[in-house]
Amino acid sequence: MKAKVAINGYGTIGKRVADAVAAQDDMEIAGVVKTRPSFEAKIALEKGYALYAAAEENVEEFRKSKIEVSGTLEDLLDKADIVVDATPGDTGEEYKKLYGKHGVRAIWQGGEEHELTGFSFNSEANYRDALGRDFARVVSCNTTGLVRVLYALDTAYGIRKARVTLMRRAADPNDIKTGPINALVPDPIKLPSHHGTDVNSILPHIDITTMAVKTSTTLMHLHALNVELNETCSEDDIIQLFASRPRIRLVSSKDRIKSTAEAMEFAKDIGRPRGDMWENVVWKDSIAINKGELYFFQAIHQESDVVPENVDAIRALTGIEKDGANSIKKTNRALGITS
Ligand code: NAD
Repeated sequence: MKAKVAINGYGTIGKRVADAVAAQDDMEIAGVVKTRPSFEAKIALEKGYALYAAAEENVEEFRKSKIEVSGTLEDLLDKADIVVDATPGDTGEEYKKLYGKHGVRAIWQGGEEHELTGFSFNSEANYRDALGRDFARVVSCNTTGLVRVLYALDTAYGIRKARVTLMRRAADPNDIKTGPINALVPDPIKLPSHHGTDVNSILPHIDITTMAVKTSTTLMHLHALNVELNETCSEDDIIQLFASRPRIRLVSSKDRIKSTAEAMEFAKDIGRPRGDMWENVVWKDSIAINKGELYFFQAIHQESDVVPENVDAIRALTGIEKDGANSIKKTNRALGITS
């Protein structure tokens, strides 16, 4: 039996998770939810996804636009085993009550606080702890990117201390409300930023401090990491370690990938849907051991790195796959992640 998945909030993250779910052989889309008619609603129908209105008061608007809806979110919840909530942050409490009423498991995104579910998820770090839970939160794009590398480093060498500067994209490429900005914005001014605390929601024992700057770009985030490890290792050891991880893609400036622009072009050239880059992009030639401390750069595609983690979270919560490594393999194989 395939797990029946509802997607509430069919925007940047929701539409990507829907396509990734549809690509798996052990789950299927029960339906997707939109608040109002749009090109995305029409494309959802063209893709064969049943479309539902967020609430009864939205149905008429869809009818007027001649876009066929199969009912409302509440109708969909009765047909689904699990809902991926990709609505904008801060709708969590309200929807949590509704999902509970319909007895549906739920996965939220990083715009919600850890406290909403009491459990924050990353495929490699804590899949087993997610098994059978009713609710979980897939952490944000930045936190997912940080946990992937820090979990690998901590497991192999032990982390004494991590210091990270995040250069954040100011807005997503389709966002005409937030930008453009012509500035570098310390965000927040008062340090540290919340990203370290968010990493601790999954890896509580790691000593991490983060700073973040909002930058005039929409493409990707760029992280500069400085990590003190408990055990001595070489630059080659770190390259081997990252090469062995399922969602880290090593690139090199020698191949003329010297920026987030070229990293995004690379994703398009390897045929990724929407030009998405699901893996952390780590510059192999940035990896340096200096005075015993590790330094490197990584780029994170904010629109897509959390997508495979959502697919794995569906398997963990529904229990259709008990082994995290197997789930990661299945997800990666179905999506074509070969790094
Ligand atoms: P988005 O604005 O692109 O999409 C949200 C969708 O939800 C839109 O289609 C909107 O119409 C719909 N919506 C709004 N209110 C709704 C409601 N009450 N009920 C149902 N649907 C509603 O947002 P997004 O960027 O996809 O973000 C979704 C979540 O994912 C947030 O928690 C965000 O923090 C998180 N996230 C976003 C990114 C990113 O870079 N975009 C990365 C990682 C995590």
